[in-house]
Formats: sequence, C-alpha cells, structure tokens
Amino acid sequence: MAQQNFLPPRNRQNQMFSVLLLVFLVLSSVYYMTAPQRSEDEKLSTAPVVPISEITHGYEKRSFENILIRGSTVFAKNLSGSYVQSYKEFGDSITALGWNDPKNPTVVTIDNIEVKNFFKAHLGDFIFLILLIGIGMWVFRSLARSQSTALSFGKSRARIADAKEVKTTFKDVAGCDEAKNDLKEIVDFLKNPKKYTTIGAKIPRGALLVGAPGTGKTLLARAVAGEAGVPFFSISGSEFVEMFVGVGASRVRDLFLRAKRNAPCIIFIDEIDAVGRQRGGAGFGGGHDEREQTLNQILTEMDGFEKDTNVIVMAATNRPDVLDSALLRPGRFDRRVFIDKPDLIARKQILEVHARNKKMAKECDLEVIAKQTVGMAGADLENTMNEAAINAARRGAKTIQQIDLVESVEKVTLGSQKRSRKLSDKEKSITAYHEVGHAIVGHLCPESDPLHKISIVSRGFALGVTWFLPKEDQYTTTKQKFLDEICGLLGGRAAEEIIFNEITTGASNDIEKASAIARNMATRYGMDEEELGLVAYGERQGSAYIGVDLGTTRNYSEDIAKKIDQFTMRIIAKEYVRAKELLVEHRQKLDELVVKLLEIETMSFDEFLEIFDGKKIEKKREKAV
Ligand code: ADP
Ligand code: MG
Ligand code: ZN
Repeated sequence: MAQQNFLPPRNRQNQMFSVLLLVFLVLSSVYYMTAPQRSEDEKLSTAPVVPISEITHGYEKRSFENILIRGSTVFAKNLSGSYVQSYKEFGDSITALGWNDPKNPTVVTIDNIEVKNFFKAHLGDFIFLILLIGIGMWVFRSLARSQSTALSFGKSRARIADAKEVKTTFKDVAGCDEAKNDLKEIVDFLKNPKKYTTIGAKIPRGALLVGAPGTGKTLLARAVAGEAGVPFFSISGSEFVEMFVGVGASRVRDLFLRAKRNAPCIIFIDEIDAVGRQRGGAGFGGGHDEREQTLNQILTEMDGFEKDTNVIVMAATNRPDVLDSALLRPGRFDRRVFIDKPDLIARKQILEVHARNKKMAKECDLEVIAKQTVGMAGADLENTMNEAAINAARRGAKTIQQIDLVESVEKVTLGSQKRSRKLSDKEKSITAYHEVGHAIVGHLCPESDPLHKISIVSRGFALGVTWFLPKEDQYTTTKQKFLDEICGLLGGRAAEEIIFNEITTGASNDIEKASAIARNMATRYGMDEEELGLVAYGERQGSAYIGVDLGTTRNYSEDIAKKIDQFTMRIIAKEYVRAKELLVEHRQKLDELVVKLLEIETMSFDEFLEIFDGKKIEKKREKAV
C-alpha cells in the first residue's frame, strides 16, 4: 500500500523558513529592548564606592540628580552624569537616612531589585527556552510530515491503495458465497456505471458489511476493489475520533474530496461503529460531540454525491445494532451484506486458501481439521494454519504434517500445553476422574456431541480437557440437547464426589456454563412451560447472530427473578442426580478408564470406546478372527 505525502516539498521548505524567521525575530527584539538597560547597568556596577555619609551630604547639598536604592546598594547620579555607589545598613529607611525632604528636588527611587535581577539572571534561559521550543516545534513538524500524517490535523489519514495495487480478488476469499454474490453487483456498478445510469437507475451509495470479527469483512472490501480494478481508500472509524473536536469532520470532508477526484473508487470505513453509534447520547458511551459531528459529516457527504459520481462507500461493523438509524436509510448504507461464520465446507476452503503458500505434506487432511474447528472465523483458521507452520518449523520438519495441524487446533482453541505444570498424584487422579466423568456422562447422553478426546495435560488454565466435537454446524438446539449438555458438564463434579467424596474447585467453569445454559433455557428459549411460559425475560444488549453479548438489563419482577432462579436450580439439581446415577452404574468402567488415562495422558475416542464398550472391540476381533 502506497503512502502518499500530500504536502508538496516546496511548501514544506517555506514552513521551515518561516519558523526560523520567527525565532530570529523574537530573539532580536528581546535583545533590542534590553539594550539601554544593559549599558546603564554596566555604568552602575563600575561606579566608585563612597561612604554612605557622603551621599547623604550630597543629597543635602542637592548635588545629585537622583538616587537609586537597590537592596542594600545605593547609587547616586551626579549632576554631571557620573555615578557613585555606597552601602546602607539593612533596615535603614529613606526617613532614617534623611532623604525624604519634600523640598529637595533629588529623585529617590527604590528599585525592586529581585524582579529585575531575576530577569537579568534568566534572560539567557529565556532565550534558550524559546530557541528550544522553536527547534522542537520544527523537528516535530518535519517528523510528522515525513510520516505523511500531514500535521494539518484535518487531513484525512486514509491510506490509499492504487488500483494496480489491490491484488486481492474474490478468489482469495473462500466461502461467503452469498456475500460475494451481493458484492458482485457493486463490482458491476463500478465497472459499468453507464449501464445503470442510462436507464435511470441511481448507483447505490453504500454497502455495509456485517459480520463477527475475523470473518473477512476487510478482506472482502479489498476484494471488491480488486475485482473492479479501482482505487481503494481505507480508513478506520477510530481514526476519525480525535482529541480535537471538528478534526474528524474535516477528515471526512478531505477523504471524500480525494475520493471524488479519483472516481471511480471505493471508500472503505472499517469499524464504522466507532463513529456511527446511535446519536443522542443514550446507550453506550454517552453523547460525544466529536463522534456526532463526524457522523453528520459522513451523512452529508454521502448525500452530496452527484448522481453520476461513481464512488461507493463500504463500511464494516460487527455491531450493526448500535448503528445510527440515519446511516441505514436508503441512499446511505442501504445495502447490507451479512457475512456468517464459515460452515464446514467454507472452513475447508479457507484452510485451503491459507495452505496455498505453505509447504504441506501430502498426507494432510484439511477436512478433518475443518471438522474440528466448528465456530472458528476466517482469521482463526488463518491463525491455525500459521501455528501449524510454526510447529512444523520448530520440529525441524520440511513440511507441515497432520500432527502439526492437530496440535495447532488444540493450541488455538485450548491454549498451549503446559507439560511443565507439575501436579501431585492426588491432583492428577482427581483431574483424571473429573475428565473421565465428563466423557462417560457425555457419551451416554444421546443428544450430546460426540466425544473426541480426553486429556489430562494442562492447557491454559485448565488442568484437563474433555473435548466433544459437534457433528455439524448446528443452528437450532433442542431442549433435550441442553439438558444433556448440562448433564455432561456436571459429570466432572459428579465423578469427584462419587470417588473422593469431597469437592474441589476444579468444576467452577463447568458449573458456570451449566448455570448459563439453564438460565437461558428459562429466559430466552421459553423452555420452562409451567412457570415462566413463552416469554423472553431480560433485554439483551448486543446481537445474537454475530455472537456479541453485552449482558442483559432486567425488565422483570422480583417474582419472576425468583422463578428463574428456581428453574435453574431445579434443572441443575436434576441433571446432577442423573450424572451421578450414570457414573455409579458404570463405576467399573470409570476406574478402568482412569487407570488408562493416567498412563497415556491423552486418550482418543477410539481408545475410550475400546475400554468402555469392550464388547465392540471383541466383536470386531471375532470378525477378524
Ligand atoms: P474482519 O475485517 O471481518 O475482522 P479480516 O477481513 O480482517 O476480518 O480477516 C482477517 C484475516 O482472516 C484475513 O486477512 C484473511 O487472511 C483471513 N480470512 C478471513 N476470512 C477469510 C475468508 N473467507 N477466506 C480467506 N481468508 C479469510
Ligand atoms: Mg476488519
Ligand atoms: Zn470439568
């Protein structure tokens, strides 16, 4: 991406020159103004010293023009213009010295020596300071300009990528087929505007890309520019929001001006929610003058496009719910393109895109990895591939192998292994029982996701992990699935209680998750038919479909709150009993599995089955025999 410098060099030299001129002027005027003072001072300090009585004598004889008292030094100016000086006792006042004769024309002045001396003593420092400030300013300016952020704050900081430079195309964006389809239209507007304008159609002004972080919004916007072969001006919403009010607005003006000159082109405002929040102060962050002005300016500019100006404004956000409604009305960002988290096929494609520039072993099966990465966005998948490459390099391997990919998925989702964390035998045993408890209960609950792996190698904060993998991406969940999930989550604690008859802190995360599920069943999904009915309780902030949840505000009575709590407690208690029953029933398998797990630390689903349904394996063997 090219960074352009928008101040011509000549202009810069002029500015430098004027700063120097200013410094020079200030210095010379200071020098000039203090000149007479300095020559007087010189005369004074070299004046001959006489006894104080001589000055009093001269005063009475009226042979002095004036007398100047500075601290304890007394200067007297003869009628001839020459000076003498003397010292008076501290505390001797004019009256005490008898110099206050009203009929005597000699002028007696008391000089406030501190102030003058201060100025005299610090004159050099003043000059130095001014010089320093001048130089500092100059350095700052030239530095700021060399980084092309153009010190004139109002200049837009938009980075401009020339048409030639946007090499991203739709090929680089895997999945998101619907989004791409929607955007193809915009590419066509940019390429053949005539086709639309001759028939009387208005070119749309803006498109808003909505999707969870990392789903490829920025990437798609660039791809549109790349496909259409037009310049791409990109700026982030937060860059508009500056310390000084009005700067954001003038940046917007400047950005749109430049874009219009370069039409056809794309203006891309990333993270537009930084400026595009609902105006009027309610809700998040309160009123913010600067933001409002900036937003108003964006709206004005978008309205101000001529009919045939071929500039399309694209914006990206993951918080469409907080956007000002004025942004969304026709003529502005009326086109909304939703980008979902990738599904299985899309995930595989994204992994393939990022495998292109990596050395992959032939045995790598990206489909397996795609299956294990439910819920990941494009950026996470990219990160996964990169971690795999790092893993392979660390091993000293020449190509990335499947084990690197698997390890990388686990690292990205669960944190890296902490083999150095030493657990006592008792702790290890508790962890093993806890995890196997999850595994058995989860395995026995019909609606639970299939078991994938059990591990007692600590990762991140967790001492152990039991990993279930959703079979496919699921968009709806049944009540029974929720219950089974809760049951599985409680399996860990249930095992601990059965075996050790004591309680550890290890299950806190499980309990938290289980409670959240139960609570949601009551408040969001209307699953407590008897007591709460089909009512949604609590106003949620944030939007569900892109997975932002900012908590809820309570909008129900104390009575309902109690019922929600009761439902939650009832469900959890019931499922806990179920989990315990399942484990007691399979107590023997539980022990066997723990012994094995303690030995091998990480157990695959197949290894689990081998012990758990010993029969199955025996059957297989029978067949084999
Ligand atoms: P967003 O702007 O939505 O937060 P980005 O566009 O910045 O996400 O995506 C971050 C990175 O993730 C991209 O640079 C790209 O490498 C990768 N990525 C995201 N989605 C995709 C996709 N659909 N296909 C290929 N790569 C993707
Ligand atoms: Mg982005
Ligand atoms: Zn647990």
